Amino acid sequence: MMAALRRVTSCLRQRLCIPDFASTSRVRHSSGLCFDYNDDQKAIQELARKFAREEVLPMAAELDRTMEYPQNLVKKAWELGLLNPHVSTDYGGPGLGVTEDCIIGEEVAYACTGVMTAMTANSLGQVPVIIAGTEEQKKKYLGMQTEEFLLSAYCVTEPGAGSDVSAMITKAEKKGDEYILNGQKMWITNGSKAHWYFVLARTNPDPKAPAGGALTGFIVESGWEGVSIGRKEINMGQRCSDTRGITFEDVRVPLENVLVGEGQGFKIAMGAFDRTRPPVAAGAVGLAQRALDEATKYAMERKTFGVPIISHQAISFMLADMAIELEAGRLLWQKAAYEVDCGRRNTYFASIAKAFSSDAANKAASNAVQVFGGAGYNTEYPVEKLMRDAKIYHIYEGTSQIQRLIIARAIVEKAKQGLM
Ligand SMILES: Cc1cc2nc3c(=O)[nH]c(=O)nc-3n(C[C@H](O)[C@H](O)[C@H](O)COP(=O)(O)OP(=O)(O)OC[C@H]3O[C@@H](n4cnc5c(N)ncnc54)[C@H](O)[C@@H]3O)c2cc1C
Repeated sequence: MMAALRRVTSCLRQRLCIPDFASTSRVRHSSGLCFDYNDDQKAIQELARKFAREEVLPMAAELDRTMEYPQNLVKKAWELGLLNPHVSTDYGGPGLGVTEDCIIGEEVAYACTGVMTAMTANSLGQVPVIIAGTEEQKKKYLGMQTEEFLLSAYCVTEPGAGSDVSAMITKAEKKGDEYILNGQKMWITNGSKAHWYFVLARTNPDPKAPAGGALTGFIVESGWEGVSIGRKEINMGQRCSDTRGITFEDVRVPLENVLVGEGQGFKIAMGAFDRTRPPVAAGAVGLAQRALDEATKYAMERKTFGVPIISHQAISFMLADMAIELEAGRLLWQKAAYEVDCGRRNTYFASIAKAFSSDAANKAASNAVQVFGGAGYNTEYPVEKLMRDAKIYHIYEGTSQIQRLIIARAIVEKAKQGLM
C-alpha cells in the first residue's frame, strides 16, 4: 500500500509539476487563489478518510475506555503510507508537504484525536531531523522509519520547563567524542513507543545563558543504556495516546547524533513547530467537524415540544456557530501549511491557526454536548469524549497563551519595521 501511495503521488506530482517537500502543493487558479485540493491531495484525503472512518472510528470509544495504545492502527497507517508522508523520496517516503500532513491529520482526528496524536507525535520527533539533520542522520533515522515500522518522539518539555523552554536543566556534557546526557523529560507523547527521540539539552552550564545559544539538539535512541521510560500518564482526553516521563542517566550520545552543532538546538526545536502546528490545527478542525456532524444528526432526531430540536433556533444557531468556526479554522490551517510549503516563514500563521482552531474545537465540542443535553454528558454517546479530547489543543505544541505571545510579537515586529 505504501508503494501504491508513493506511485500515485509521484505520478501525480510529475503531472502537476509539484517539486519535493518545501514547495507549493496546491494548484494555483488563474486568479491567484485556489480553494480546491489538487488530484493528488484528493486521493490522499480519500485514502485517509477511508482509513479513519472504517478502521479508526469504530475503535475510538473502546480505546478511550481501555487507554490502550492504538498500535495496530498506527501500524496500518504506516502500511498505507499515512504515517511519514513528509519524508523525502530520498529516504523512502513519498516526499509530500505540510498540506498533505494536515489533510491526513484532519481526517484521522475526525475519527479519534488520540490516534491522530499518536501519529503526529511521530512527525514532531522527525521534523527537527528533516529541517536540520545531515544527509547521514536523515538516511539513518528517517530511512529506518520508512523501511520498518519504527516511531520517533520529541523530548523537550521537563517537569520545570514547558512554555519556558529556556528553564530546562537536562544537560549534555562533551567528553571526548561523545556527549553525556543527564536529565528528565516530561509529557512525552509516544515516549514508550518511539525507537528514537529528538532531545533538547543544555550544553552551556550557565543557567543565565540565552536559550538561543545554550541548548543543543540530539538524536537519542530509546534502547540506549541509561534511558528509562516512566509510567503511562492518565490524561483527561486522548487517552489511548502514550504520554510518559523519560529519564536520561549518563546516556552516551555520539557526536554524529548532534543536530547541526552545539547551541543550535533551540532554533531547531522551535523551528519544527512551523511544520507541526498546522497539522495540530487541522486535527482540531477534524474534531470540530465531528462535533458538528454528531450534533446535527442528533438535533434532527431528538424531539422536544413536538418538533426536532434543530427547529429551535437556539440549537440551529449553535450548529451555525460551529460551522462558521470550523470553516474559518480550516482556511487558517490551509494558509499556514501553504506558506511553509511555498518555502516561506509561516510562524505567525501557524500560531494563528493553532490558537483559533483550538478554541473552535473546544467550543464545538462543548456545544455538541449541549445539543445532546443529558445524553451528551454520558459515555454512551460520542460527544463527551470529544469535549475531553479537545482540551489538549489549548496546551500541547505551545499553549494558546504562547501562540498569542508569538502573534503579538510578530505584530510588534511588523510595526517596528514600518510595515503596518
Ligand atoms: C498530553 C500531552 C502531550 C504532550 N506531548 C509532548 C511531547 O510529545 N513533547 C514535549 O516536549 N512536550 C509535550 N507536552 C508538553 C506540553 O507542550 C506542555 O505541557 C506545554 O508546553 C505547557 O507547558 P507546562 O505544562 O509546563 O505549562 P506552563 O508552562 O507551566 O504553563 C502554565 C500556564 O501558564 C501559562 N503561561 C506560561 N507562560 C506564560 C507567559 N509568558 N504568558 C502567558 N501565559 C503563560 C500557560 O499558557 C499555561 O496556561 C505534552 C503535554 C501533554 C499534556
